[in-house]
Amino acid sequence: MATIELSRENFYHNLSQLALKAGGRERLAVVLKDNAYGHGLELMARMAHEYGIKEAVVISNAEAERIRDLFDNILVLGDTPRVDEKLSYAVSSTELLEELDPQVKLELKIDTGMHRNGIMLAELETALSIVKERGLRLFGVMTHYRSADELTGEYYWQKKRFESVRRKVREAGFASTRFHSHNSAALLRSRSFDEAIARVGIAIYGYNTLPAAFEAVELRPVLSLWARRVSSRRLRAGERVGYGGTFVAPREMTVSAYDLGYGDGWPRGDAALPYQTAEGLPILGRVSMDFISVEGDRERICVMEDARRAAKHFGTICYEMTTALMPTIPRVVKE
Ligand SMILES: *Cc1c(COP(=O)(O)O)cnc(C)c1O
Repeated sequence: MATIELSRENFYHNLSQLALKAGGRERLAVVLKDNAYGHGLELMARMAHEYGIKEAVVISNAEAERIRDLFDNILVLGDTPRVDEKLSYAVSSTELLEELDPQVKLELKIDTGMHRNGIMLAELETALSIVKERGLRLFGVMTHYRSADELTGEYYWQKKRFESVRRKVREAGFASTRFHSHNSAALLRSRSFDEAIARVGIAIYGYNTLPAAFEAVELRPVLSLWARRVSSRRLRAGERVGYGGTFVAPREMTVSAYDLGYGDGWPRGDAALPYQTAEGLPILGRVSMDFISVEGDRERICVMEDARRAAKHFGTICYEMTTALMPTIPRVVKE
């Protein structure tokens, strides 16, 4: 079985850079959904707690349960609301407001332009009157940017819309409701962050997804993916490796199999365009379900040290590279 190593030092470095942007670590809500973007939910949650982070964001009640003792509040983005002092819930429809238990800590999600989910701006008044009539607990109001990581002005008009939402909610008399809209890219490009929390995901894991034109905050990948040697063989020139024999040894060479494959969430890719490991060793031939082959006979190889480099190779985004890594791969914190 392959192994994932998590660098505490790099994680803390990223958190410190983001805390500078946000104006304090107490304003960082670490986004740990989807097994902490594939890094490992409990280990990342524990490290964040040890750093002094008080807020987390997850997708489900099941994820929240696994880390509930480590945070003051956990925002659940996509599950059935429960009455629980520790948990707040993103609510995206007026129908749900009509049914909600008034004790639920509600975070009303507003659609300011992404058009994925959230209450439309035109429904805001109706939503607020339901909240008032039913005596619901409006703990927060939130929105999400559709293109904070692109070099356009879109972030600004969505931000403007959200500011008008904030005014309206305040005017309606909700004095203690909190407001939040920033993900990693929005926080990294903001100049005067003034919201209650920033919901930071990809940046805490070490990836700055802003184009180079923005002022660069240096972040460091937390995750590295390692594989162990299973067996080695000496091949003569012309002998072939793996399914379909797509790799032909150009000379006499030593080839070893390592314990990582697409069954672990590593992309199968295109054998004609081989991915290179962290040490620059090309994967030879096709990726199997549980094995890859590489030249040489090192005991351990670092397959991925930077998910952005890998994402570029496979034509995807760093989020998908790490999130795809199966929860069954053992994770260890490297101190
Ligand atoms: C996933 C998510 C985030 C985090 O986004 P990053 O780009 O990873 O920082 C923030 N808010 C919401 C609502 C999300 O779904």
